[in-house]
Amino acid sequence: MTRDEIRELAVFQADETKGACALSFYFQPDPPQDRSHRREAIVAKDVVKQALKSAAASGKNGSLHADLDRVLDLATNLRGSSGRAVFACSAQNFWKEYELPPHLGGTHIYLQPHFQLKPLAALLGAQPALCVAMVDRQRARFFDLRLDDLHERGAIVHMLSRSATNYGYHGYEGGHAERRVADEALQHFKAVSERLRIDFEKGIWERLIVGCQDANWPEVESHLHPYVKQRLIGRFSADVASVSNEEIRDRAGAVLNRWITERGVKKASEALDFAKSNGRGVTGLRRVLQALETGEVQSIFLTENYSARAVECPHCGHIDAHLVPTCVACGHATRELTDVCDAIIPTAIRRDIELFYLKEHDGLDRAGNIAALLRFRADQTSGQIAAAS
Ligand SMILES: [Zn+2]
Repeated sequence: MTRDEIRELAVFQADETKGACALSFYFQPDPPQDRSHRREAIVAKDVVKQALKSAAASGKNGSLHADLDRVLDLATNLRGSSGRAVFACSAQNFWKEYELPPHLGGTHIYLQPHFQLKPLAALLGAQPALCVAMVDRQRARFFDLRLDDLHERGAIVHMLSRSATNYGYHGYEGGHAERRVADEALQHFKAVSERLRIDFEKGIWERLIVGCQDANWPEVESHLHPYVKQRLIGRFSADVASVSNEEIRDRAGAVLNRWITERGVKKASEALDFAKSNGRGVTGLRRVLQALETGEVQSIFLTENYSARAVECPHCGHIDAHLVPTCVACGHATRELTDVCDAIIPTAIRRDIELFYLKEHDGLDRAGNIAALLRFRADQTSGQIAAAS
């Protein structure tokens, strides 16, 4: 799934005046050990049938019914261990289906004016464009990893001269060949490092994970360019000649998830500290919403099950943590949001704001379960300008 595809979902709006509705369906497969029971398919069918019933009861029929029928058909035939998401609005000719990692927190269907992106945002959160480089003394394979989707982008192969032992028993020749093999490996590592640097500069990847044998790591590491090394988030041990793609995906995925969690916790603490010192951080829904409106937000931190009521102005888009009947910005009548995340998440996706969902964070719990790290402080910047002029 690309960023552009996610943005397309975030800007989509169903035309309510024509009775259109944005349908979002998330399918969570059973854990592998429970797969034989096919409980997942039964749950999925139930969820869709319930939605069909309530759509009929509320008089929503027509195109929504067609979408639900199509999802029911899909739910009945779901196989495999991947998660699945469907975004549909046949009234506006929209149907998108995605295979996702099986961490969607349950099988659900949502019928709203916008697509429900919360499970997706929790999954995507702060996923960087990730390169996985598998390196040994004569090969390098370069992969992109995005949402459990591993894609090989290219490879470098330097066939080494026949290994030293094949040269027989002559000490001189053996030693000579060994030196040559070592020199060829050195050239190979340099070429790998150069390729990583060039791809990074082209913007092909943002973060790097290396898979190699432990014995090769010191040499691989010593050849990495300093700023490629800064982008390295971890390493795992693997035999490049025999490792399967599935294993690469799982091992790199584990390194990535650990890094995201640690980074989220660290940055959330930073935001909380900055908030106390009146710097580049805010806490609590009201302040986070304000910062979003002034375009200051760089990253948002939410506790895993965060949800809050708010109102949204359908006219100017202002979101208010106070449940006021009219918009403070333009005076238009507001509408209530049962969960403010429905408005925050699409905004974050559209503006490339990093979203971190944190399972545990004491400080964030105490600070109202939501905080943000800011790029700048509008009030301080204008203060400085005022002071300077
Ligand atoms: Zn307004």
